[in-house]
Amino acid sequence: MPKQHTFKVVLLGESAVGKSSLVTRFVRDQFDPYKESTIGAAFLMKVVPIDNENSANLHIWDTAGQERYKSLAPMYYRNAAAAIVVYDITQAASFERAKSWVKELQRQAEPGIVIALAGNKTDLSDRRTVEYAQSFGLLFFETSAKTGDQISGLFTELAKKIPIAA
Ligand code: GDP
Repeated sequence: MPKQHTFKVVLLGESAVGKSSLVTRFVRDQFDPYKESTIGAAFLMKVVPIDNENSANLHIWDTAGQERYKSLAPMYYRNAAAAIVVYDITQAASFERAKSWVKELQRQAEPGIVIALAGNKTDLSDRRTVEYAQSFGLLFFETSAKTGDQISGLFTELAKKIPIAA
């Protein structure tokens, strides 16, 4: 049996970029285009294999309402091993917002926090040009919660980057 390590992962980003949808797709393999947005914070768990000896039990926090209650965000990302900052590839403003979340995490979160950037909604055709997200030196994925594209890659690669305590 691989050794299981529990990690807290938070999702941050402008509202409606698809944070809840990404988590629901990853954990339940479902997509609901009509779902109501989550109120408050909820977490879902999923175990992903890291290597032959280790697996990660991800406690994934979907922090709804963080755009409205920004002062609560530090409470969500406290003790997080990893953060996924999400933007919508069709909304340039959401990319700007994502950049400021990355800066905030780099300044205020735990020093070793692993940060991934996810450009969501690749199934839509009206992509807006954004700066090269790749050039930020973060783990970077373009995803679709609707089709499932790149979702397990995002969470699995993220889990593999989290240092395992000896
Ligand atoms: P959140 O506020 O960031 O948690 O965003 P939600 O997960 O509530 O999603 C906001 C809206 O975008 C909902 O109507 C979702 O159905 C839709 N949505 C989320 N992900 C995708 C996606 O990958 N593709 C498309 N076309 N719509 C998406």
